[in-house]
Amino acid sequence: SFNAETVPQAPEDALFGLMAAFRRDTDPKKVDLGIGAYRDDNAKPWVLPVVKQAEDVLRKDPNLNHEYLPIAGLPEFTSASQKLVLGADSPAIKEKRITSLQTISGTGAVHLGALFLSKFYKTKSERTAYFSDPTWPNHFQIFSNVGISTQTYPYFSKQTKGLDFEGMIGSIKSAAEGSIIVLHACAHNPTGVDPTQEQWKEIANVIKEKKHFPFFDTAYQGFASGDLANDAWAIRYFIEQGFETCIAQSYAKNFGLYGERAGCFHFVTSPSSDAESTVSRVASQLAILQRSEISNPPAYGARIASTVLNDKELFAEWEANLRTMSGRIIDMRKALRSKLEEAGTPGKWNHITEQIGMFSFTGLTEQQVLKLREDSHVYMTKNGRISMAGLNTHNIDYFAKAVDKAVR
Ligand code: PMP
Repeated sequence: SFNAETVPQAPEDALFGLMAAFRRDTDPKKVDLGIGAYRDDNAKPWVLPVVKQAEDVLRKDPNLNHEYLPIAGLPEFTSASQKLVLGADSPAIKEKRITSLQTISGTGAVHLGALFLSKFYKTKSERTAYFSDPTWPNHFQIFSNVGISTQTYPYFSKQTKGLDFEGMIGSIKSAAEGSIIVLHACAHNPTGVDPTQEQWKEIANVIKEKKHFPFFDTAYQGFASGDLANDAWAIRYFIEQGFETCIAQSYAKNFGLYGERAGCFHFVTSPSSDAESTVSRVASQLAILQRSEISNPPAYGARIASTVLNDKELFAEWEANLRTMSGRIIDMRKALRSKLEEAGTPGKWNHITEQIGMFSFTGLTEQQVLKLREDSHVYMTKNGRISMAGLNTHNIDYFAKAVDKAVR
């Protein structure tokens, strides 16, 4: 019989634990570089102006109500999401080779994909999902919770603080045929290091050769380079190559809709005369999984995103807002690098401007990270990752000096 007394204590989530420690710190100079959420130049959360406009539009709609959405979510949201990630003229959309469900943000999309694969992706050997080392830590538990074993492929080179491309390709090559290869579409979390287009082509070749299944996680489209198409390049390339794939899409960062949990899951099948019917069978199974998990997704965030994605003027305003966010982050990268170099802080700092997106993998050791927290009230994850958005014109000097002190 079940005895709850036997349930062991689980560790606290490292990132949310860090947030709590930051909140408890009463020092006015404290700096939060932990969680990956955009902050403005005053370290405040930023409601995108275009989101406020969309909220006005929604408030004025006399037909708006709080009925349930369909199981697969708001149709005008999921179809706009397809166009956003694949491009409006994608062959996968034209040939009806894609099916999409609105999910509980990116996490829910990764989960729905993993759950679907756990039920229907049968290979000869044990199915294993491969993640980059390092990756977003949640990947491991999302896949293992549905009974898929997990492994890593090398990704980050400690020497160059860039991509360990040889290691990555070698590991994907030697993985058992038919493995699930999870790929960050852009702005890799936590390293800020992405493959080049040439490298993506080689990755695609190896995945095809080994009959692996690529699974894209895209949580930062438009946030990385400021350009939506550019940030979706890798996914669109794989689709062009005819891959069957899952795509987990989050609107948390690029719309600043973190807590509204707006996201989308896409399944794309390869071109074939049977593709449309394959996708409709896949869709029928996904609907059952979604129904048992969440019944139907939350409406508010998807309505906001949908209002923007389906309106030309609002869409253009959104692109401008994206450039504001990515531009401020790029400015902070430049400023941090030059401050460290000017101070002659030991080590090389070129990677700060070479990495892209929300995060920088500084190369600071765990010991230095703890020293920064104790001496200077700077909070970052133990692996030396900083959320660039936590830096601003008021604290960057202080942070650069704190780093200088910690590494000397
Ligand atoms: N994947 C990656 C790589 C992420 O960094 C994140 C956000 N931290 C997510 C997925 C999903 O986040 P959310 O559920 O908030 O959309």
